[in-house]
Amino acid sequence: MDYADSDRAQELADRAHELMEEVVLPLERERAGGMAVSSGTIADLREAAREYDIYAPQIAAEYGGMGESFRDVLPVFEEAGRSLLGAAAMRVDAPDEGNMHLLELAGDEVQKETYLEPLVEGEIASGFSMTEPLDGAGSDPKMIRTTAEKNAAEGASGDPRETTASRDGDEWVIDGHKWWTSNGVEADVLIVLARTDPDAHPYEGCSLFLVPADADGVDIVRDVPHMGGGTRGASHAEIVYENVRVPEEHLLGNLNEGFSHAQARLGPARLTHCMRFSGMAQRALEIAKAYLSEREGFGSTLSDKQSLRHRIADAEARLHVARTAIRDAADRIEDGDEARIPVSMCKVFTANVTQGAIDLAVQCCGANGIGKDLPLADFYEAVRKFRIIDGADEVHRRIIARDAFADVNREELEPLTRFGEPNTRRGSGH
Ligand SMILES: Cc1cc2nc3c(=O)[nH]c(=O)nc-3n(C[C@H](O)[C@H](O)[C@H](O)COP(=O)(O)OP(=O)(O)OC[C@H]3O[C@@H](n4cnc5c(N)ncnc54)[C@H](O)[C@@H]3O)c2cc1C
Repeated sequence: MDYADSDRAQELADRAHELMEEVVLPLERERAGGMAVSSGTIADLREAAREYDIYAPQIAAEYGGMGESFRDVLPVFEEAGRSLLGAAAMRVDAPDEGNMHLLELAGDEVQKETYLEPLVEGEIASGFSMTEPLDGAGSDPKMIRTTAEKNAAEGASGDPRETTASRDGDEWVIDGHKWWTSNGVEADVLIVLARTDPDAHPYEGCSLFLVPADADGVDIVRDVPHMGGGTRGASHAEIVYENVRVPEEHLLGNLNEGFSHAQARLGPARLTHCMRFSGMAQRALEIAKAYLSEREGFGSTLSDKQSLRHRIADAEARLHVARTAIRDAADRIEDGDEARIPVSMCKVFTANVTQGAIDLAVQCCGANGIGKDLPLADFYEAVRKFRIIDGADEVHRRIIARDAFADVNREELEPLTRFGEPNTRRGSGH
């Protein structure tokens, strides 16, 4: 399907496609599904991406990227999503991609030099620590556990499971408990959201901190056992931050503006998830169509069975709508709009469309949808999280519905009869 992407976007997408077809997909087909690739293999893929001139296209050239616009990198992200190895190769992989974007937006020059440039180079990895265990921040991030005190000794609650950051001379002292920090085990630097003003509404009283993973008091408790992620081998860590001291300069962005900085990260990051996952859906359908076109049964190829053709047609149509909506939202972001409602619409719709497409592809390929000779089973495991991360379906529907109900026109119901108020309009004669 062709889209109204710019010439530059198309040129970048062509390079990404070549890299995928000539390097990434052959490697993916060579190796057994579900098995983690080594960091050496990722480094080789990144070297290849550099040779194909399609490495970190979304990052400004001064920090090691290609300086392409958000809208123009969109089809590159889609291409990258066609394999679980594609995004890592082109350095458009979550969570580093979102963290790099945040550092680019909110970091000062020293922070960019210290963390952004090595991240772009692939020399270090990062995590974003926002979600907390069961009684803390989750779908409702306002539930972040905080005691904002200026003096660490007075402010510390003694409970390391509460996430707090308090001023102590020239240092920040962070105490808290996070989980599901993607990359948490591998990360060299963790971006931690902590409460810094207990009297303010959390949206105006939290800040972000850059915490070196080897700082005293950072305890990587475990990689929470989880579905998916095997191929890339990425972790989702539970981390306790206990009396972690970082210098004043490790505040990322402005004091007490952590939520708005996080939102600046999450908005585009939700959309880049949509781009990568729609590429995964497209690949799943490509595999399904190849299988149906070769496999015979009941006197014809399976691709001749109308019930299957119709289901593929529906999946293609839904994917096209998702990809079109993603382009619309990206255009708005490119124009400086936060595009909150369009992004929420894309997130919930694309997640469900992708999950449906992959489920259909698994079904079409029979046992080979379950087997790991094809990447579909890995896709199936990978896609489920998409309906939960960066805001569950219900949270995005809540945002969309709030907007949808904001301009209800009650005049539409004027003709209806209310109890005890007979309708004075003449009947239709029946
Ligand atoms: C693979 C993976 C990677 C992740 N990576 C990170 C990361 O790097 N950093 C980070 O900080 N977090 C990360 N998370 C956490 C993720 O952001 C949260 O899981 C998500 O925000 C939901 O929070 P929760 O798990 O606490 O769900 P809960 O808040 O406990 O909600 C449970 C379920 O209830 C439903 N629900 C919630 N609110 C409503 C509502 N208002 N109305 C109706 N239904 C509702 C939803 O279906 C939701 O899934 C990751 C999670 C996963 C699975």
